[in-house]
Amino acid sequence: MAVLFLSQSVGKGGANRPADVSAVHQRLMEIGKIECYRCNGTMDPKIQAGIEAVQRHFMRQPDGAISVNGATHRFLSNWEEKPISPGVQLPGKLRAAWDWVNPLLPRGSYCSSGYRSADDQRRILHRFYTTTFRGQIVAKYGQKQYDDVAGDLLGQEDKVLEMVRGVGQAIARPGSSMHQKGKAIDIGGPSDNEQVRIVRMVAMAHTDLFSIKAPLKERNGCVHFEIL
Ligand SMILES: [Zn+2]
Repeated sequence: MAVLFLSQSVGKGGANRPADVSAVHQRLMEIGKIECYRCNGTMDPKIQAGIEAVQRHFMRQPDGAISVNGATHRFLSNWEEKPISPGVQLPGKLRAAWDWVNPLLPRGSYCSSGYRSADDQRRILHRFYTTTFRGQIVAKYGQKQYDDVAGDLLGQEDKVLEMVRGVGQAIARPGSSMHQKGKAIDIGGPSDNEQVRIVRMVAMAHTDLFSIKAPLKERNGCVHFEIL
């Protein structure tokens, strides 16, 4: 989608110049927040409701006003549905949480994880141990201890967890992660800080759904957040 150009404010209390109103109307239709109809550049209740529907993603109380280069303008300008990685499961409230966050995220973001079974979690733990953090684990604990534990990953799960955490990667014990309770989502892609900022904004606007505990940046490059 093209950049949304606005010369002056639009919406409640705004200048509402016809060209600006038409541009907002067009964008709200493109992103599915209002039905398609012809607009003559006059502000109307449908456009007003569409602006508020956009703001509901990140404001507890939408004010219905778009100021030039303000948050609503920037989100509308960059609005884009992000993909969900193949195989990722987002049941129930997880899906609702993702839908609030999704279009606001920076370009290139995607949903990399949602609900995971205990077996999924164990595979991730083992991959961290044998691949992702192998070098760091060997450097910290020595090759012998690495090999001893690597020979019996299932039987020495406590040790595996201790060593992966010991090199700085937070990970839940298989069976206890918030992902396995269907209450966590990971976001992949660039701009971690921007992703964290946006998730925090959305969480503050939806305290009935999101855990307001700060989203976590994981060392594997994901941003992790939780719902209630
Ligand atoms: Zn996570």
